[in-house]
Order: sequence, then structure tokens, then C-alpha cells
Amino acid sequence: MTHWTDEQITHWLYGLEPEAAHLDGCPDCRQRAESASARKSAATAAPDVSWEFLAEQRRSINKRLERPLYDWARIRNFASVVMLLLVAVLSFNLLRPPAATSPLATPADERLFSDLVAIDQSTVPRAVKPIQNLFEE
Ligand SMILES: [Zn+2]
Repeated sequence: MTHWTDEQITHWLYGLEPEAAHLDGCPDCRQRAESASARKSAATAAPDVSWEFLAEQRRSINKRLERPLYDWARIRNFASVVMLLLVAVLSFNLLRPPAATSPLATPADERLFSDLVAIDQSTVPRAVKPIQNLFEE
């Protein structure tokens, strides 16, 4: 006689083992089966929770289901305030007078530029200039 495997005992627990005569004649397998049955009963026992707790839990779930996920009115108001602040900051920056800037060229630079322009606009070719210098004196 071979003893039942754990799988056979599990099948017996759930009514899938049609032949249970071995349990009547074998005290070892009977004890294992009873132990497994006790564990199954403990695992599937109803939790010790009061009806009031369950009713309150159900009311809380229903209350949350009725409430919308997002409060669009608050989001819309917040977006409006953000847009107003953005417009205010941008218009403040656009209407502000520009900061005083230092001139790009100093008077010495302007004089240098005017001398260069005068030299450049001379109608006499550059090659003639040394010859003119010889006769000027
Ligand atoms: Zn056995």
C-alpha cells in the first residue's frame, strides 16, 4: 500500500479524488488530510469584521465614485490666474524703458573714423601722393 501524495490530498480536499477508501484504512494519510483540511478552513474563514465597518466602507466608496476625479472649475481658475500673471510680467518687460547704454564709439574713435573716411574719399590715386609731396614744398 502506497501513501497518498500531497497532490492527491489536495485533490481530496477539493472533491477531485473519487476514491477515499485509503484514508479510512491509513491513519498517517488520514492525519495529513485532516491537517490540510484544517488549514483550508482557517484560510477560507470569513474575516471578523463588523457589518457597520463594511457598510461604512461601502458608503465611502460610493461617495468617492460620485465625486469627479478632477475639479475642472478650480483648474480653470488656476490657469486663468497663471495666464494673467504671465501677461503682466511680459507687458511689464515690454513697457519698461531700455537701460542706459554706453555709446559704441568714443570721440577719439569718431575722429579716427572721420580721418579714415577722408583718406578713403580722396580723388587722388595713392600712387600719385609721393610725387605730389615732392612738389608741394
Ligand atoms: Zn496512507
